[in-house]
Amino acid sequence: MPANSFSRRVLAWWRRHGRKDLPWQRRPDPYRVWVSEIMLQQTQVGTVIGYFDRFMERFPTLERLAAGSEDEVLELWTGLGYYARARNLHRAARLALERHGCLPPDLDALTALPGIGRSTAGAILALAHGEPATILDGNVKRVLARHAGVDGWPGTPAVMRRLWALAEGRTPPRQAGPYAQAMMDLGATLCTRASPGCAACPVAGDCVALREGRQTDWPAPKPRKSLPERQTWMLLLHDDQGAVLLQRRPPSGVWGGLWSLPEAAGTAEADTLARALVGRSPTQWRALEPIRHTFTHFRLHIHPLVGRVHGPATAGVKDAVQVWYKPGQPPPGGMPAPVVSLLDGPDGP
Ligand code: SF4
Repeated sequence: MPANSFSRRVLAWWRRHGRKDLPWQRRPDPYRVWVSEIMLQQTQVGTVIGYFDRFMERFPTLERLAAGSEDEVLELWTGLGYYARARNLHRAARLALERHGCLPPDLDALTALPGIGRSTAGAILALAHGEPATILDGNVKRVLARHAGVDGWPGTPAVMRRLWALAEGRTPPRQAGPYAQAMMDLGATLCTRASPGCAACPVAGDCVALREGRQTDWPAPKPRKSLPERQTWMLLLHDDQGAVLLQRRPPSGVWGGLWSLPEAAGTAEADTLARALVGRSPTQWRALEPIRHTFTHFRLHIHPLVGRVHGPATAGVKDAVQVWYKPGQPPPGGMPAPVVSLLDGPDGP
């Protein structure tokens, strides 16, 4: 199968059926393409649109993003998850301006920035600059792995090399931008994970997965390992005014830089921690239903403990690492989704 036959069919399909009116497609400058690509990693288009629009309203340019605070960026990211993406976006904006004065139109310079891999750089170059660059995001990997019958989990270097070779070999030297968009659309709307619409697919004629009736065998899933389980006790310490104590998490690691609840290693430690934080412990603790939150590398069981601490008014007092936050007020920054749901829930302050 000549490579250009593949790209011709994909492009012809996209012209008729592809998505052309997504917010970042309306004005595909490098900055907007970059932000959309980062948001679209691990997140569906339907979810990303609202986040993208709010982000662009607050940070319409690279310069505005670089001038913003990490708290503002993380706040706009609350609910999207994978917060390292947001921290890297912010750092990369500052570094790009420092080093290049813009988002550089160059693969090596782009991939030297935090959070920009080869596929994201390819998307920026192809979609915003019209360069003959190649993308290989999750959707494209799925289409190529099925169409060519590529065995093995795409997380391994050997499989990735094979997929990159296929992806590059099929990228047309002209029309790389529309082709990149077309491949993403094909994966997102037709060659879907669970039920591919092969009957409408433009490359069905020579698709190995369809011929062998093994569409859902490719790409091979990540070898399963059981996730480690961790436990934590989150303290909802309320003051007399309904404010709750939040702490900023360390800048890197799980939920890095987000505002979260103080955590103890067990109920026995809750009193000691409360005294260390606010000088007294509640007269009694009330345990709420545990929450389970799954990260890529472990599963966290959160045991919320509610306690009221009487004392001087403290709402609104914020320093670098802790704040008394009154739900309903503007948040101090980004917050992990389980914390947002605890504060919004019927047992919140
Ligand atoms: S024929 Fe089916 S499995 Fe093959 S690429 Fe098209 S949608 Fe995917």
